Amino acid sequence: MENCLFCKIAAKQIPASIVYEDEELLAFKDIHPAAPVHLLVIPKLHVATLSDCGDGHAELLGKMLALAPRLAKEHGCAVEVTADGSRAGGFKTLINSGPDGGQEVYHLHLHMYGGPRPWRGQ
Ligand code: AMP
Ligand code: ZN
Repeated sequence: MENCLFCKIAAKQIPASIVYEDEELLAFKDIHPAAPVHLLVIPKLHVATLSDCGDGHAELLGKMLALAPRLAKEHGCAVEVTADGSRAGGFKTLINSGPDGGQEVYHLHLHMYGGPRPWRGQ
């Protein structure tokens, strides 16, 4: 898709701090991090918004979400069970959709926020 920022990142036409790549997905650091760990997971295929998705996108969406725990482990924000049996660490996943959903870039992306709170505006 012409003039799509994240398509250009996927095509390596503009730089990004890429942390994961496979045939279908790319993950990179958000340029304005709102948390100590702030990653974006995108499909390489241009999909404008989650609002355009349906049953045919279920596998792709599943892969995007399934990547989150792996990224969390690699970036030190996986959920851990502590010695006393409580839980520590953790992360938040978010997909903004459309103007009312706060979406600014119209190429589907999953935000992943992690690290010690408080975070900026999330
Ligand atoms: P959203 O509001 O859900 O559309 O989020 C778009 C996100 O893309 C924001 O968190 C921006 O900081 C981020 N962003 C914009 N441009 C870039 C870029 N060139 N590289 C990495 N992240 C970007
Ligand atoms: Zn795109």
